[in-house]
Amino acid sequence: MLLHKARKRFGQNFLIDNVIIDKILASFSPQAEDFVIEIGPGLSAITKPLSCLVNKLTCIEIDRDLVRVLKKKFDNCNVCIIEADALKFDFNQFNCKARVIGNLPYNISTQLLFRLMEFDEKIIDGYFMLQREVVERMISRPSSSNYGRLSVMLQERYKIEKLFDISPSSFNPEPKVFSSFVRLIPLSVDRIKPINYDLFSKVVSQSFSQKRKILSNSLGEWSNYIPWDKLNISPKSRAENISVHEFIEISDILYEYGFC
Ligand code: SAM
Repeated sequence: MLLHKARKRFGQNFLIDNVIIDKILASFSPQAEDFVIEIGPGLSAITKPLSCLVNKLTCIEIDRDLVRVLKKKFDNCNVCIIEADALKFDFNQFNCKARVIGNLPYNISTQLLFRLMEFDEKIIDGYFMLQREVVERMISRPSSSNYGRLSVMLQERYKIEKLFDISPSSFNPEPKVFSSFVRLIPLSVDRIKPINYDLFSKVVSQSFSQKRKILSNSLGEWSNYIPWDKLNISPKSRAENISVHEFIEISDILYEYGFC
């Protein structure tokens, strides 16, 4: 029985399904010497078994009441509980690369992924449980209905793989939606990257701001500077037809024209 009353504002849906917990751990495959950060340990459904597999586990939890319970539970052991908002947390404070795992609160999951992107040099890999629809958007390819800003921004940096789905009955309280467990592995630093990341991000946002508009219209003034033929992109394409690589080419050309 849960003594803690789940807080909606913190997206608290606690895992109660041991089969799923085992599946999560088997996919994550922790090694004793891994430096692991868990975001949102909650009632420690993942934390507890994980703490038996690694030498040291660091957890970031926002809920003060849960932090108190967790600190008591893991007193004098290999689990370090930090009371913090993962959206504001400075992951650079750790001096080694981390593996990150979390059953993320649905209400902040995309914000958190964008936040973690700021620290991707510090991240070996990330394993997250997210709303299934969000995962579909993350893995979608061009010209599919779920392809959007999230797909482009994440695929520019990560190899993303959906591992399995989880039904609402695996949680207490039950969420209204299915979840999926997903793995993100940062791509090599040698990959083709945008020259200016901020401009790339602006171009992608602007392109998807009105998804149904043709690209030359959504990009406004910028579209006059894009050599559509040279890039082999039709100005009549929509953002959903443009690959990550093509977005990089577009933003690099705009950067060369002095946009930033
Ligand atoms: N890991 C537990 C499990 O699988 O049962 C709990 C998962 S629950 C979906 C999400 C957890 O993240 C909760 O413990 C919640 O309090 C915590 N949380 C929510 N927002 C957070 C934030 N901004 N920073 C850190 N933890 C957060």
